This record gives sequence, C-alpha cells and structure tokens, in this order.
Amino acid sequence: MKNIIHIAFILLCFLGTAILVTSCGKGKNTENNQNDNNNESKNEVKTIYTGEFNADSAYMFLEKQVSFGARVPNTPAHNLCGAYLVSVMSRYADKVYEQKATVTVYNGTSLPLHNIIGVFNPNQKRRILLTAHWDSRPFTDQDDKDKFKAVLGANDGASGVAVLLEIARLLKQYPIQNIGVDILLNDVEDYGAPDNYKPEKEDTYCLGSQYWAKNPHVKDYTAEYAIVLDMVGGKNATFYREQVSDEVARALVDKIWNKAAQLGYGIYFLNEKGGGVTDDHLYIHTLAHIPAIDIIDHNPSRPKGFPEYWHTQRDNMSNIDKNTLKAVGATVYAVLREL
Ligand SMILES: [Zn+2]
Repeated sequence: MKNIIHIAFILLCFLGTAILVTSCGKGKNTENNQNDNNNESKNEVKTIYTGEFNADSAYMFLEKQVSFGARVPNTPAHNLCGAYLVSVMSRYADKVYEQKATVTVYNGTSLPLHNIIGVFNPNQKRRILLTAHWDSRPFTDQDDKDKFKAVLGANDGASGVAVLLEIARLLKQYPIQNIGVDILLNDVEDYGAPDNYKPEKEDTYCLGSQYWAKNPHVKDYTAEYAIVLDMVGGKNATFYREQVSDEVARALVDKIWNKAAQLGYGIYFLNEKGGGVTDDHLYIHTLAHIPAIDIIDHNPSRPKGFPEYWHTQRDNMSNIDKNTLKAVGATVYAVLREL
C-alpha cells in the first residue's frame, strides 16, 4: 500500500441500514426468547458462547508465516507459505477457493498470483468480506541502502493474515448464524512500483484484490461490507479513520471505532480523520462495488504516514506487539458477531 497523493473521491452510496447492536461482553451473548403459549408468557435466556480472540494464537500464525522468509511471489518461500495458508484455512472454513492466475507487475514481468478464500456459511445471503494481503514486498525501497532486499513483512502482510486466521478459528468453533463471512487472503499486493519509478504508472499495487474484484470466487458475489486489515500488529500502532473508508462506509467506521473504544482500545483506534491510503479497499469498492474500509497503521503526523520501518529490512518480529493484534482482532470479531 502507499499514501494517496490526490483524492477526488465521490461518495457513491450511503448505507441507510440500521445495524442492531447487542451485547457481546466477556465472550458470550445473551438473547431473550419470548414464547407466548396459551396466555402463558415465559422469558428464556439463551446463552451463546462466542469465544475470545486469542492474541497468542494470532501471534503464532504470524510467526509461522515469517518463518518461511519473505513471501515474494514466484519464490519457494511464497509457495510454501501459500500451501500452509491453504491447509489452515481448510481446517476452519466451510469451503476454500484458490484463485491461480498470472498478473503483470509494474515493470512488465509476469508473475503467478495465488488468492486464497475461506468461506463460512456459504448459503447465507448476507455476507461480510474480510481481507489482508499475504505476500511481502520484493524490495526495501524505503531503506537508505540495500534497497533490493525483500521485506520480511512481519507487520506489512503477515499481521493482517494472522488476525484473520484467528478469526477463522473462532468462526469454526463458534459459528455465526445470521451472516456469511468470506476471508480473502490476497496476493501480489505489495509489488507496486518503487517511488520515483519512471515511467510513472497507476494501480501497480493490490493486484490480487484487483483480480478478485473483477473475478470473484462466486459468480455475482457481493457483500454488505468489506474490511481490509493491513499492518495491524505493530508496536504503538495508531488506526485513524482512513479517508476513503470514511467516504464510502462511514457507518461501519463509526461502528468499529466505537466498539474499540468500548472494549478499551481507544488508544489504538483514534476517532480522528486520517489520510487516504491506496490499499485493497479502494479496488474492492471501485471494481466490486462493495463499501470497503481499511484498518491500517497510518498516522498523518508521521513523516511517511506509515511506521518508520515500513518497506525496510526492519519490518521484522521485533516490531510486533501481541497487544495490537488483540486490539484489532477482538474489535473486528466483536463487530462481526453484532451485525
Ligand atoms: Zn507494503
């Protein structure tokens, strides 16, 4: 992903759907079922166990991805990690789709693409899409030297996938009845042209989500919302209300930032305007017409917006914090359960 320099974004639709809010407390929901038989009324309280987002489990998923090395498309580490992600997703999802295709990157090179989609509740019409990229960047172009080493991508890539795999584990153990969830692990997100590359080209990032948006895993696929997670495991992370997200899905941004505050994660989720970012949400919205938001560690007051180790060799395990994984995972999971 990269910073957006110019945004002339038109608000295409408002979401007028009221979202019912129920209590999610400490890992369980309660529902009141009122039965009225022969003028006898009784209140029955049904407890639904929802589990809790486990940061240790998410950390393990993150560490495992990083153990393969940089997941640069068309390398052995990428192939091995792809097979690992398919095996984990197959354990949890009702159905797994793999999209394999060839895409052309900024310099004209053709690369294999491998999107992995885990489907939960395939027959449910009402759907939510969750996505993160699983590839890592082929060069550390934000470093001063050695710019042609690959990014390990502990935060930029592996963190978002780790949170989604932990959510997949919870969805298997504690299924949600009233919505279907699709988890898209998208590929070739971070092969965008280096800064100052000439000739300048548009849309060189997010090739996996662009491909998926034009060729969804199910014909005529749509979802009520899409949520992108990117760089969601860093120390001292800050998640501002990203500009495009606020324009296309303000109701969902409100809901997530309010839920984070309610759960005590307001220190991470700052309820303030952030800058615009070119990321998967942009293409999912413009190409697949799904209102999409981005939860991303981006702070408009930082020199680069992103953390200082972004697209450098320092994007490694030393900058990962389980507390950040927990804040993001628990918040998104709680919102999912309340839709
Ligand atoms: Zn990146």
